[in-house]
Amino acid sequence: MRNLLSLLCCFFLLNIHAQQPEKLNASEIFQKIKKLNFLGSVLYIGAHPDDENTRLISYFSNEKNARTAYLSLTRGDGGQNLIGSELREQLGVIRTQELLAARRIDGGEQFFTRANDFGYSKTPVETLKIWDKEKVLADMVWIIRNFKPDIIINRFDHRTPGTTHGHHTSSALLSLEAFEAAANPAKFHEQLEFTKPHQSKRVYFNTSPWFYGGQEAFEEANKNQFISFDTGTYFPLLGLSNPEISSLSRSQHQSQGFGSTGSRGSQMEYLEPIKGDTLRSQNVFKNIDTSWNKLEGGKAIGEILTQVEKDFNFKDPAASLPKLLEAYTLIQKLPNKHWREQKTKEIKDIIYASAGLFLEAVASRASATPQDSVQVKLEAINRSDFPISLNSVELSPNNTKTHPQINLKNNTAWHSEVSLKIPKNTPYTTPYWLKETANNGMYIVKDQQLRGLPETPELSKSLFQLDFNGLSLTFERPIVYKFNDPVFGETYQAFEVIPEVSISFEDEIVIFENAEPKKISVKLTSGKANVQGEVSLSAGEGWTIKPEEQKFQLQQKGSTQIHSFQVIPPKNQNETFISPTALVNGKEFSEKLITIDYKHIPKQNLVTPSKLKVARLEIEKKGKLLGYIEGAGDVVPESLEQIGYSVEKLNAASISASSLEKYDAIVLGIRALNTLKDLKFKQQILFDYVKSGGNLIVQYNTSRGLVTNKIAPFPLELSRDRVTDETAEVRFLAENHPVLNFPNKITKNDFDNWVQERGLYFPDSWSEEFTPILSMQDENESPKNGSLLVAQYGEGYFIYTGLSFFRQFPAGVAGAYRLFANMISIGK
Ligand SMILES: [Zn+2]
Repeated sequence: MRNLLSLLCCFFLLNIHAQQPEKLNASEIFQKIKKLNFLGSVLYIGAHPDDENTRLISYFSNEKNARTAYLSLTRGDGGQNLIGSELREQLGVIRTQELLAARRIDGGEQFFTRANDFGYSKTPVETLKIWDKEKVLADMVWIIRNFKPDIIINRFDHRTPGTTHGHHTSSALLSLEAFEAAANPAKFHEQLEFTKPHQSKRVYFNTSPWFYGGQEAFEEANKNQFISFDTGTYFPLLGLSNPEISSLSRSQHQSQGFGSTGSRGSQMEYLEPIKGDTLRSQNVFKNIDTSWNKLEGGKAIGEILTQVEKDFNFKDPAASLPKLLEAYTLIQKLPNKHWREQKTKEIKDIIYASAGLFLEAVASRASATPQDSVQVKLEAINRSDFPISLNSVELSPNNTKTHPQINLKNNTAWHSEVSLKIPKNTPYTTPYWLKETANNGMYIVKDQQLRGLPETPELSKSLFQLDFNGLSLTFERPIVYKFNDPVFGETYQAFEVIPEVSISFEDEIVIFENAEPKKISVKLTSGKANVQGEVSLSAGEGWTIKPEEQKFQLQQKGSTQIHSFQVIPPKNQNETFISPTALVNGKEFSEKLITIDYKHIPKQNLVTPSKLKVARLEIEKKGKLLGYIEGAGDVVPESLEQIGYSVEKLNAASISASSLEKYDAIVLGIRALNTLKDLKFKQQILFDYVKSGGNLIVQYNTSRGLVTNKIAPFPLELSRDRVTDETAEVRFLAENHPVLNFPNKITKNDFDNWVQERGLYFPDSWSEEFTPILSMQDENESPKNGSLLVAQYGEGYFIYTGLSFFRQFPAGVAGAYRLFANMISIGK
């Protein structure tokens, strides 16, 4: 599998980050020539990483030879992570790279807008209230104007709001608006400084059995209005079927657990014409000229390249070089800038691979700081008899240039070494969309030319200027770092520019349950040798930090030091951020450096502002020792420890009546009744624990896939009811109930500042033993009363709650802590 993957990874060129460089074999070169000869393009549009139909993307890219791209409106930052602990922005970085890894396999390209995957929303109305609709639309228009698709394909149906995630329907609705706006010079006029309006020909909706609730219903549906075609093509040059390629691509979504097994044979796809000239031809490119003839000056190029394709010699791709260079020269004369630039890029890759060229610039270290110098090893080799000479190699920006001026004889390498000085104001290597703090719905990207791009363009580059028998071509290569890993062999990484010193906190949040001071530590890491200065912390009004500053000295690059400060909270409830500053030779540093390193994606570096949320709560609590049975995983135990409880994690399989006696309350982690099969046999022990005076708190479970249908000592039915508006009004149904009064008096203020949502999978029916405590609803919906249900059972209490405490605790929401403390304390 590794071999197959690494072969495919080099299949088509993308703007890839430093990693194994592309080394095309003869069939791959031939595929690229066919693509060079096709001048049609397809843009597929969805909302999230994983929405895309990789089978269709691969089909258009590899069978139709069209330039094909996936526009995912978001980077999937709001999802769950199945392979590690990264969430939110960091998860978005992983998913971005997983999409790029998928595209390297299926041959597509990748784009995003600035929209943030803020969590579930029920309708496009709700989604577009949180996203800045005009900005998302602007980005879609910008991408269409630059990519210039002939065909746009929507993953989702714009006519069925409410039947799927609001992000999904929004992607389809905005796509139709963008289709028109991209062609209208009056719309988003400011973009026209860099690009031109573009009219795509038509928009389709890519329907499937999923939209009909299953294969059976889809087979019975009237498909007259659809066009359909078989995407089960077999590619003998690759030894793979299209669905097999598509599965390899989909399997890159590892953080979502989307491993997929390929199939062979016929696979139908269905497109419904939606907008534009809604032609019902089986050929989606009908009436679109996809040949070189469509361009002024293109006819002659087409003739040469048709000949190249016809005469292609699989044993000697270099035999095509004279004709390719002839076509290259003509492409430089095309008046159309878009096609000149696009086809220049494509043909240069083909010339490079046909000549068996290998050009590389490797830094001696993985990273450097601004104004630092690093040695760079250069290599150039030609593996053909074509007369090629190396004129110069320049390191960019503003750096060394050497002029070897030598003939590159067949299979004889040229090596050299030069010094790269990192310019003073070089920005740190980091995802461009994370440089500024995002708001809830949108990332902030000021530079128009960065918008839409999947990742930050390479900053440190090498430019190899070669002469092909009198014709000069310059090849751009990123400066990379590589090393030999004893297990994995040759390993490539991006060469990174990092801060001289980075600062991080151990936690993201620290809760002060009372007025007692706490010790807070920062870790300093040096990006170069011999860094010294002073470190200090600052916080909001009312917070005191001692001492004011501390000296530090870091001798080696990569060495670390921990410094602790005493933080004294204010007397009353209050929250703020603590920011660190390291002062080095008059320059301030306050960023943390995060590394994300997984095998299936290139290593990622994030440099973002370092800050710690601190919250002083006014909270009373009864009881001390809690038992926690972990479900799908959450940070609830750590959060309860922060407010002074002792929490012991329990193994569901080994709980017994006597082992539970000592706990003041038992808490079930999120989805414990979905994920722990043992609970089916242990529920009675938990209920008996309640009967004899314990408190059992059960957090949300999904209504489908429960391990038992007896989730409470009394009848209780889960539903899919959720309240996604985190600001939805909360009404008290049982104002005098102890859970709202003891030991903390809960008021409406305790529902301020909640994040992402109120809660999910609320029960919708329950027996009379339960008291519903709260009522809430999303706009235009009926009240939902099942978010917090309390029942006395014997001497103790059983509590079921779909409120999303697991989201509120890490955000330091005071009211969530106070309400949870009451749930634990009830009856005590
Ligand atoms: Zn989705």
